[in-house]
Amino acid sequence: MELKRTRHEKSRALFCEAQQYIPGGVNSPVRAFQSVGGTPRFMQSANGARITDADGRTYLDYICSWGPMVLGHNHPAVKAAVLQAVENGLSFGAATEAEVIMARLICDLVPSIDMVRMVNSGTEAVMSAIRAARGYTQKAKIIKFEGCYHGHFDALLVKAGSGVMTAGVPDSAGVPKGTAEDTLTAVYNDIDSVQKLFEDNKDKVAAVIIEPVAANMGVVLPEDGFLKQLREMCTANKALLIFDEVITGFRLGIDGAQGWFGVKPDLTTFGKIIGGGMPVGAYGGRRDVMQMIAPVGSVYQAGTLSGNPVAMAAGITQLKILRDNPEIYHRINSLGDRFYNELQKIAQQNGCTVNHIGSLGCLFFTDKPVTNYTSAKQADTARFARYFKKMLGDGVYLAPSQFEAMFLSYAHTDEDIDFTLQCANSFFEHENE
Ligand code: PLP
Repeated sequence: MELKRTRHEKSRALFCEAQQYIPGGVNSPVRAFQSVGGTPRFMQSANGARITDADGRTYLDYICSWGPMVLGHNHPAVKAAVLQAVENGLSFGAATEAEVIMARLICDLVPSIDMVRMVNSGTEAVMSAIRAARGYTQKAKIIKFEGCYHGHFDALLVKAGSGVMTAGVPDSAGVPKGTAEDTLTAVYNDIDSVQKLFEDNKDKVAAVIIEPVAANMGVVLPEDGFLKQLREMCTANKALLIFDEVITGFRLGIDGAQGWFGVKPDLTTFGKIIGGGMPVGAYGGRRDVMQMIAPVGSVYQAGTLSGNPVAMAAGITQLKILRDNPEIYHRINSLGDRFYNELQKIAQQNGCTVNHIGSLGCLFFTDKPVTNYTSAKQADTARFARYFKKMLGDGVYLAPSQFEAMFLSYAHTDEDIDFTLQCANSFFEHENE
């Protein structure tokens, strides 16, 4: 791959200026290079599997906008649909046909979803699904899992201690204790921890929310039967099961993690891929629960720009391409298998481990199996930072944190994968020089 070597002067200058006007110089903390050091690259364009920074340097991109760009950046059909929608006006604040098409598409593709409501981000989707679950069940408590991220909604910004179950302690300043009080935290892959929370909070739990594949503590897969047991436990306790498929939705396959694992949640949240790169989220599920939402029901939820016509055009186009071309999932999942399996071979020889499912994966700098938050936290983040820097220097753009996923897209080629493996190999070979 041809790389233009620069010292990223423009990114540096922009970062300097940005810090005067934007907290930390970034509009989302995950974009900062705080845990790896150095200057965040300011990007100016992207195409296919490549992204180019303000200094004109092009990288092979494994962030893919944190998941949405499953077809690759700037896909011609998505771009054309957006341009066409723009011709008709940017926002109407009224119902449109595009929203009906989008809703029908999601309901047709995901069997657990009878009705869906569009919002503007994954956070909004989760926040609204939780409200719907509480309204429907008339109960207040929510069980989430340590290490799962569900957006920056107050009640779910809860940190669990390293022990088993913890009552809510706010993770972020500015979240009143009371807001997090009804959030209970269980341990990923530990069904007993969920059982105990149900027993200790009898008839008080409105819902269990989970990333069916955890992709915000690196990538952690649900162990065999875990999601099924969770389903049974929710049903037995009259609590709703919410799958947060903001990352896995339309990525693992057309019916997401629920299709992959054959477990039917009551509600599902989406974001990222359904917007094709535009700011979109959605929540949907059982008709009787969704009928609780205003204006038909008593759970209020609204949005000035929800169902925005330009965003719908991008999302509908991306979803239809995925629906009509099943070879896309076959391709990105088999490319993922090859990539992560090869990476695992390199990792194993160097005291590291790789978790992966389809096109999602993570190289952990620990030789122990990673099955939950506690084991993920064993990873050597200083070593990750050195790896990150070396890969960036070689033109491979990874998420600047040990605890984020790698995303492959349909635009990544076998040559891209080979190149990335060579770079990783070279890091380990020269690590101690
Ligand atoms: N849920 C999951 C699983 C996520 O990964 C994210 C964001 O990465 C969110 C919710 C929040 O989505 P957004 O950043 O669009 O608000």
